[in-house]
Amino acid sequence: MAIIDIIGGGLAGCEAAWQLCRRTGHCVRLREMRPLRKTPAHKTGNLAELVCSNSLHSENITTASGILKRELLELDSLIISSAMSCRVRAGSSLSVDRALFSETVESRLKTIPRIEILRSPVDSISDISFPAILATGPLFEGPLFQEIMSKVGEEKLYFYDAVSPTVSAESIDMDKAFWGNRYDESGQDYLNLPLTAEQYQFFREALVKAETWPLKDFERSIFFESCLPVEEIARRGEETLCFGPLRPVGLTRDRRIKAVIQLRLEDGLASAFNLVGFQTNLLINEQKRVFRMIPGLEKAEFLRFGKMHRNTYLNSPLLLNRFLEFKDIPGLFLAGQLTGVEGYCESAATGLCSALFLASRLAGCELPMLPDETMLGSLLRFLRTPQKRFMPMNSSFGLLPPLPGRIRDKKQRKLAFAERSENCMPEFIRSLNQMLRQIRD
Ligand SMILES: Cc1cc2nc3c(=O)[nH]c(=O)nc-3n(C[C@H](O)[C@H](O)[C@H](O)COP(=O)(O)OP(=O)(O)OC[C@H]3O[C@@H](n4cnc5c(N)ncnc54)[C@H](O)[C@@H]3O)c2cc1C
Repeated sequence: MAIIDIIGGGLAGCEAAWQLCRRTGHCVRLREMRPLRKTPAHKTGNLAELVCSNSLHSENITTASGILKRELLELDSLIISSAMSCRVRAGSSLSVDRALFSETVESRLKTIPRIEILRSPVDSISDISFPAILATGPLFEGPLFQEIMSKVGEEKLYFYDAVSPTVSAESIDMDKAFWGNRYDESGQDYLNLPLTAEQYQFFREALVKAETWPLKDFERSIFFESCLPVEEIARRGEETLCFGPLRPVGLTRDRRIKAVIQLRLEDGLASAFNLVGFQTNLLINEQKRVFRMIPGLEKAEFLRFGKMHRNTYLNSPLLLNRFLEFKDIPGLFLAGQLTGVEGYCESAATGLCSALFLASRLAGCELPMLPDETMLGSLLRFLRTPQKRFMPMNSSFGLLPPLPGRIRDKKQRKLAFAERSENCMPEFIRSLNQMLRQIRD
């Protein structure tokens, strides 16, 4: 059996190592640089350290994250099953004791004799034994990073995440919105939400007073050097927003309108919109509270929240083939947040998929693609679909193909998505097991 190098012992790397050793019988060298070399966000030398929140989001099957977790569990995910064994009380959210979680992941990996865990940085591609998986996470830097960057081209690597919130189209009150492009009122590209002077004042006041994430030093420098969070623009003066991202000029001639919030289409199906210029450091609950004060967004369903932090990721649709392998570096597969997915579970999910793709390559067979109707399959489809501005994405109902019929009730609709994903999994698992048997025999 081949020895496979996995670079990075975070969520994706650990998941990939588990899948390869436990399910395919391959030998793995898991290479983690911490504690010898640190990152600006990790605090320990532990494998699978959760860098920020201790929540892996909802387990409820009526959420995208809940469906993803169920699919991952069906595929024997190390990360999700370990999280479940270390849970702390947090309602329907799967939240964990983070130290115990890391310990559990590491000790379960160590039960497999075919895994060697090396604690040293990998600084060059020539030091990697191929095939390999690169799972060095969103804070990737140093000599290996420079080398990969020179191979793939700087313009295909993004460094900062300045994400505006995304809301579902059906949750917008269309009676309060109008279509129009700046200086082209008959345009149909942007949905606009107008605010009177009074509404603007009310919204701005709430925005400047809202609670934000405490910034780390490395984030503070980004904050000043690149685009500003919307609340910071608001703080700089009473009128700064309406001369900045909320300027009404070219959108309306109505003198009662003080400001306009523009919503940009998120996908070709017009099922979701992002709030233009609303990159933010507001806490999630504050985003819900404050952005729902915007007339038209009172019932907004957030598919993605805004944020700003350093996040290195690649333009996967351009750089990778559909098996998450670099087109220009054959034998090197990519996993984790670096692929352009967003979130703990999503990072683990790509680790799992990358490992299965690599195993099928070694076995000389082609693993069928996960169906688009599954959350995993829809994330993979997102990673192979070229986009004008490729931005990180977490699991979301907006990524799934529409249901055949119209279901008005929201909960029923989500249940229908969950049921459809459940029905698709057995067929995939059957083909996977067939492939795994072939590899082991
Ligand atoms: C500041 C910050 C906060 C975040 N907060 C959240 C959150 O609250 N919730 C959420 O769902 N997601 C969050 N994310 C996003 C994402 O889910 C996490 O970053 C997640 O840890 C990504 O998993 P990963 O396996 O891709 O990377 P990581 O978990 O970061 O793992 C990468 C590993 O590779 C190692 N490594 C890097 N370079 C080398 C090298 N050259 N040689 C050997 N080892 C190397 C690193 O030390 C690290 O252990 C956050 C991201 C950041 C940057």
